[in-house]
Amino acid sequence: MVQVAVPVPLRRHFDYTSDTALAPGTRVLVPFGRQNLVGVVVSTAPQSGKHKLKSIARVLDQTPSLSPTLFSLLDWSKVYYHHPVGEVMSTGLPVVLRAPIDLTPPKGHQYVRAYSEGKVAPGELLQRSPVQSKLYQFLNNRDWTSTEQLESRFPGWRRAVKALEQKSLIEVEQFHREPAPAQIKTAVKLNPEQQDAANHICRHLGKFHTLLLQGITGSGKTEVYLKAARECIDRGQQVLILVPEISLTPQLVKRVRDQLGGTVCTLHSGMTDRARFKTWWMARQGYADAVLGTRSAVFTPLNNPGLIVVDEEHDISYKQQDGFRYHARDLAIKRASLEKIPVVLGSATPSLEALYNVRSNRFKLLRLNQRIGAARLPSIIPVDLNAYPAVHGLSQPVLQAIRQRIDQSEQVIVYINRRGYAPMVRCYQCLWEAVCERCDARLTYHHKSRQFRCHHCGHKQPGEESCPNCDSPLHFAGTGTQRIEQALLGKFPQARLCRLDRDEANTANKLYRQLDAIRSGDVDIIIGTQLITKGHDFSGVSLVCVINADQGLFSTDFRAPELMFQQLLQVSGRAGRAAANGEVLIQTAYPGDPIMQMIQKHDYDAFSTACLTEREQAGYPPSAYFALYRAESVKQNAALNFLRHSEKMGNKLAHDLGVEGVEILSAVPSPMEKLAGRYRAQLLVRCRNRGPLHALLDRWLSALEASSQSNSVRWSLDIDPMDMS
Ligand code: ADP
Ligand code: ZN
Ligand code: ZN
Repeated sequence: MVQVAVPVPLRRHFDYTSDTALAPGTRVLVPFGRQNLVGVVVSTAPQSGKHKLKSIARVLDQTPSLSPTLFSLLDWSKVYYHHPVGEVMSTGLPVVLRAPIDLTPPKGHQYVRAYSEGKVAPGELLQRSPVQSKLYQFLNNRDWTSTEQLESRFPGWRRAVKALEQKSLIEVEQFHREPAPAQIKTAVKLNPEQQDAANHICRHLGKFHTLLLQGITGSGKTEVYLKAARECIDRGQQVLILVPEISLTPQLVKRVRDQLGGTVCTLHSGMTDRARFKTWWMARQGYADAVLGTRSAVFTPLNNPGLIVVDEEHDISYKQQDGFRYHARDLAIKRASLEKIPVVLGSATPSLEALYNVRSNRFKLLRLNQRIGAARLPSIIPVDLNAYPAVHGLSQPVLQAIRQRIDQSEQVIVYINRRGYAPMVRCYQCLWEAVCERCDARLTYHHKSRQFRCHHCGHKQPGEESCPNCDSPLHFAGTGTQRIEQALLGKFPQARLCRLDRDEANTANKLYRQLDAIRSGDVDIIIGTQLITKGHDFSGVSLVCVINADQGLFSTDFRAPELMFQQLLQVSGRAGRAAANGEVLIQTAYPGDPIMQMIQKHDYDAFSTACLTEREQAGYPPSAYFALYRAESVKQNAALNFLRHSEKMGNKLAHDLGVEGVEILSAVPSPMEKLAGRYRAQLLVRCRNRGPLHALLDRWLSALEASSQSNSVRWSLDIDPMDMS
């Protein structure tokens, strides 16, 4: 009998019979209800019950698609995240393999080259074919050439290649690796701080160890981990590098390729399923020396792993926000422990979780405290909005500073974390307000497309600048990127502006084109959202202006100050990466706030220390562990009622089992109760220790799944939730 994880939202596996023994991680096609589904074998057991079991329809893998380590990782995740095993296992597979197909290698790249010692004199053989002749001459002087390169140069190359091969003039091969090792660009010489850090990482190759590389922006963290990666590759091992989605630009890929030299494969959401499968396969075969990917790349199989890097480890995009809600950084650490290799977490502003682990000696801290070369950290100066009121979002000191910089042909970033024109629109005559019908939220006016849009559910409706009720002029309050753009155009008609937000850069290619334009100096003022904060190296930018910094100070989310601090230091890091006189102006109504003052001093240490103490006192993560039940329903109160039922159940179980220290808060409506037409509620459970929390959740979830109300609403459990809105 084999136990199979079937991709359905149930926290259990299903039993089938099989003629042959099957290893865990093997994909099988199994009958389930009225259909066949692709499941993963979790274990084999002697047949027990009296039930007559169905047999497996087909075995899809010769060798298991999930390697033993990945299988263990997923098996551990299933327990830790209390998520249905079938969905967890299927998340660990490339999309292509979630379909009932056999595991066959993807096609390699085709290469051709001319035989060096001509077996035959080409002259005669080519006389009557100019295409073949040209192609032969082209190939004759070079080494292996990818047929992709022939595509544009030699129309009709396919037939010509075939003919030349038949005439024994050229040879054709498929390679998965580049046939000749690519040139390694001479790496920069590390400064002593960097060298120390790199040495430290290299000393730990071959054993599990978690290192936190905390280095201020522009201190050369990337160079450090690339150096360690290079060392790994020289030893014949593979490296997995995780980066946040928006940092994975062609520039970064090129930089990694240039420095590592070997075969570097990428993995991100913009790729086709086929292309992703190819990376998966290359890594699994050991052909890829390095894999550079986003969140889900943590599940890439590696034949001979040597090192895992998680760049910008504090970034919240590492947390999956729906379905199987894993945290890729945490899984990377677990994975490194299973693989017995080191993992390096890099950040200028590490997560409090990482710093907490440094304090308790689970992680080793490595620091880079200097910027590379002549670059200094920019001065950060608050602009008091009480003294200098903003008009269309812009205060006088900010306008003056922008003027000065563009007069000197330096570039300026204007950072505002909100797209659109204005987030609050109302009519003073009839008191009409632009609100979303499907959410508890206001609509943002988008002036370019003449639309009101909901940034939560995506709802759009046409709109003008006059009231839809009474036709009086509407009042626009608050500022978004479009309003700033319009205001700057009015003030600096000569300047070249570029707006970088999800509306303008709505495809990866548009974003890359704009980033290129900035880098090559074709832009004077960049107006952008978070899209511009991550890792980009713009050497021409000497001034960063932050339009609205205050949101983080008053949010109900306990993580808001941390996120605000991280974002402000990240965006500040874009100023003066090449020059010595970088400056950051932050518009705020609270220049005296302690957080503002710590930002001004770039003092992340003081901030994180204070924050950790506060969290400790309040019983918040990382000093305690959170688990959040969420429920939603189109019926008002259904979600809340379900969670109240769950709350009672949890309290009773905790009492019956004698579980101590687990606090079950009251079920409440979510901060934004209505979203996309559904009413939402949540129930927070917390504990200072993981053990009792997880023991209780185990029993609680089984009881909840078995309860008759379980199907009345959509519900889920989020372990270590990041977003509690
Ligand atoms: P971080 O990742 O800490 O922001 P990077 O590794 O991107 O920093 O380095 C910032 C810039 O400095 C990059 O352009 C990089 O090529 C350059 N750089 C890093 N280390 C050195 C070094 N030792 N010598 C010269 N240039 C360096
Ligand atoms: Zn009106
Ligand atoms: Zn909405």
